[in-house]
Amino acid sequence: MSEVKVTKRDRNVIINPLVTCQPLGAMYAMYAMYAISGISHGLPLVHGSQGCSTFVRYGFSRHFREPSEIAVTSLHEDAAVFGGRKNLISGLGNLAARFHPDLIGVVTTCSSEIIGDDVNGFIKTAQEEIKDKLGEKAAEKIKIVPINTPSFVEHHFRGYDNAIKSLVDHVTLDPTNSNDKINIIPGIVNPGDIREIKHIMAMMGLESIMLTDTSDPFDSPLRPGATQVKPYYPKGGTTVQELEDSSNSLGTISLCHYGAQAAHSLEKKYNVPSVVGPFPIGLQNTDQFLRNLKNMTDSDIPDELLDERGLLVDSMADITSRYLFGKTAAIYGDPDMVTGISRFICELGMTPQLVCTGVENKEFVEEMKKVAQEANGIVEIMYGQDLRALEVQLQEEPVDVIIGHSDGRLIDRDLQIPLVRVGFPVYDWVGYHRVPIVGYRGGINLLDRITNTILGEYYDPVHWKLQQ
Ligand code: SF4
Repeated sequence: MSEVKVTKRDRNVIINPLVTCQPLGAMYAMYAMYAISGISHGLPLVHGSQGCSTFVRYGFSRHFREPSEIAVTSLHEDAAVFGGRKNLISGLGNLAARFHPDLIGVVTTCSSEIIGDDVNGFIKTAQEEIKDKLGEKAAEKIKIVPINTPSFVEHHFRGYDNAIKSLVDHVTLDPTNSNDKINIIPGIVNPGDIREIKHIMAMMGLESIMLTDTSDPFDSPLRPGATQVKPYYPKGGTTVQELEDSSNSLGTISLCHYGAQAAHSLEKKYNVPSVVGPFPIGLQNTDQFLRNLKNMTDSDIPDELLDERGLLVDSMADITSRYLFGKTAAIYGDPDMVTGISRFICELGMTPQLVCTGVENKEFVEEMKKVAQEANGIVEIMYGQDLRALEVQLQEEPVDVIIGHSDGRLIDRDLQIPLVRVGFPVYDWVGYHRVPIVGYRGGINLLDRITNTILGEYYDPVHWKLQQ
């Protein structure tokens, strides 16, 4: 029988936060627009101080091991008094002249939001100036999208949500003919996860429009000489044409709750049916994702996918009863990822004893309560919390394994509880951004990762010797 406890942060100060500010989420979404097949390109322009883009660039580079280029209007003290008009207009003009992008997303920050800059008005003025400099045709080709991310409220998940909604609201055109595609809003996931979603859809004979596609821009091939045209953009990404076309899709599936705004906007404005969640981690959630695809498109689930499912079931049958059954876990981070992993943990016969997210989101609590019904033991749901609260709780009630991003590595060291690294950011180990945890194949990866961590921590090497 399961028992559920729900706790929220009861102090004002945050120690070791689990979330960061809104612009990071917007840049995550926007960065996908950085490269568009060598034909169309997009650029994020942060309207704020240099640090607002630098900490994000640093975070992306540490996690993805790729150079991360994000423009900034570099607001200083004078902008706080006189406003950031001059910086934004000249910044947009410089980007247009030097990079010839197809799309620039203007990501606001604390400072530009508090100053009260008329970003929409400045964009109009900049567009006129770009027209004068580059000519009408070139200027019209560049879409400039305002993305409001006031970072003094909420967190980077909301920034991602706001960014995808702005892209859809400003770029998508009125519907014409059905394109037989499905819009997917993947959330703050890794390139490996997006590739896995595309793989599943390809097996079902379906095409997607990723809103947005970070798989190539965040993990791009190094091929000196392959691109001769300056500026050098990495390969891949969602094209502006795809964004325009998203109103013609058969439906939108947002894998995360912080993608629902865009999905609902497409439904409201263009009658594109939408489904939000679940994050396709583990057996049940991936089954539901396939059901959602099937319902929207009427396509069959092929034998090859059923085989992949069977391989996950086989791996679970081989491993769980022997090494995982009855083990406890603490899971923290992205709310959708936490609920997805928790359900998978239950499928493995383990108990998600502590789950923790930095967002104050009642939907997370409700979803986790449902998951907790599938658990066998006490589940404590911590929301609007931080890593310090998780650590204190773990000191009192230790678990067998912690699952989350690299910011929990010191809890691993101090409390001697092994950490399974997932999500964003993972900066102290390498390669995880390439390995999916979604879908059936991702489930096998995650299962192996959890099991090997437990084996490494709790099983004496002598166990593996032949008994003498
Ligand atoms: S909290 Fe505000 S000032 Fe700090 S990085 Fe985020 S947007 Fe910039």
